[in-house]
Amino acid sequence: MVTGGVVSSIGKGITAASIGRILRSYGVDVTAIKIDPYLNWDSGTLNPYQHGEVFVTEDGMETDLDLGHYERFLNVNLSGECNITTGKVYSSVINKERKGNYLGACVQIIPHITDEIKAMIRKTADKTQAEVVLVEVGGTVGDIESQPFLEALRQLRNEEGHDNVMFVHVTYVPYLRAAGEFKTKPTQHSTKELRGTGITPDMIICRSELPIDNHLKEKIAHFCDVDKNAVINAPDVHSIYEIPLILNSENVGEYIIDRIKIEARKPDLYEWSRIVESLKIDESRITVGIIGKYVELEDAYISIRESLKHAAAELGVKVDIEWIRAEDSVNREKLDQFDALLIPGGFGERGISGKLDAVRYSIEKEIPIFGICLGMQCMVVEFARMHGFEGANSTEFDENAKHPVIDIMLEQKKIKNMGGTMRLGSYPCKVEGGTIAHDAYKEDVVSERHRHRFEFNNDYRDILVEKGLTISGTSPDNFLVEIVEIKDHPWFLGCQFHPEFKSRPNKAHPIFKSFMKAAIDKKRSN
Ligand code: GLN
Repeated sequence: MVTGGVVSSIGKGITAASIGRILRSYGVDVTAIKIDPYLNWDSGTLNPYQHGEVFVTEDGMETDLDLGHYERFLNVNLSGECNITTGKVYSSVINKERKGNYLGACVQIIPHITDEIKAMIRKTADKTQAEVVLVEVGGTVGDIESQPFLEALRQLRNEEGHDNVMFVHVTYVPYLRAAGEFKTKPTQHSTKELRGTGITPDMIICRSELPIDNHLKEKIAHFCDVDKNAVINAPDVHSIYEIPLILNSENVGEYIIDRIKIEARKPDLYEWSRIVESLKIDESRITVGIIGKYVELEDAYISIRESLKHAAAELGVKVDIEWIRAEDSVNREKLDQFDALLIPGGFGERGISGKLDAVRYSIEKEIPIFGICLGMQCMVVEFARMHGFEGANSTEFDENAKHPVIDIMLEQKKIKNMGGTMRLGSYPCKVEGGTIAHDAYKEDVVSERHRHRFEFNNDYRDILVEKGLTISGTSPDNFLVEIVEIKDHPWFLGCQFHPEFKSRPNKAHPIFKSFMKAAIDKKRSN
């Protein structure tokens, strides 16, 4: 169980994912759960400015971005049930109450809500048959919202036994420049707060700007009453992928294996160190411009950023990402400086004109361009406008568009009343031979994750193909357009799905890799 103290945004998710990676290196089968103590049922309705990217699982759940870290670090596909929210817990309990399942009992936070939380955790444990379930509690200890969850975890330790449940508290140790020293008091306070819930931490992971020394660790061990070997320091690092190596050098794996009495196997982080090394490349810089709407918060496009890094590392180059605000009219000279452009997904009209501008410019100047979801839709709109369909648009932005080249398909309109208006999760895609997509995937059928309402309008399919658009991927029944390309361009590809959710540090996504190759070629030709 991983809890957090002092402040948020100290990388608790990465720390939990790194612990998972270390345990996997011992051959231990691990799964992970993120608890988000907000009332939203899922992350789908949350503003990316506040919570960052919405990560989509194979089974189509819109989840917290930490699930993305878990999938990338653990190299597993998680199910939507691995994201537990207060909304899910309460709605399940209320549903049961309405059905009369509680047989006249007064339904309360303890035991009904806490029982529900424990049941959800145990269900994932049973379903996955994992040896270890990592549970990260979002927010910081002391938040009103997280109290029922901490209480449930406390009960779980009692029910499952001390040897089967371990608590790791992640805190922050600030360095006061004026005083010239690190301060342990916030860590002491947050540990005290945690103890107030009945939970004694077994390990404290201290995040800090700079490395802390042994004397300080001893002080924390003494005041927080944990083993000296269980006070771990994780100072800021260059790349998040280094964290498992840092934690392992402090014997985190050994301590946990010993504490929860798992049969020890020989740890092997060799492959992971190799990945970290390949990500360290500093020469051969490739610059990619991302034209997006939420550029002030990089976390809003975290999976795209990581996918670009994975692809660059596999090709032996370093990627520099520049974020371009889509709402500013795009400065064409600026676009010229990039080796490639990327238009990510999004919702709503804000920033569309900048994205369309970038599409046109990349066509005219032959700059490699990659459109994802909304990005692909912008590519289709602009291509149509450039080929005689003035007023082409998506009905998301103009319901009465003269040429609604992107629209809601009739089938989707029908299901509106059932609540499922979005196409979510994994769907198969048939890939046409002799295309960029097929060249990249080297497969005839692939499976990719979706999160969108609007689709390429089939009424415009034949005519746009006639004008030079290539449909290189469709649903297996040929009904939905999944990938578009254009010929006579070094690299122009848009996909309706989100390939970024499936890229892994040890296995870059084929489309991202193909895109990065095109960027390298562009740079070389300059
Ligand atoms: N807003 C578009 C749609 O709903 C694109 C969604 C996305 O980019 N994820 O179809």
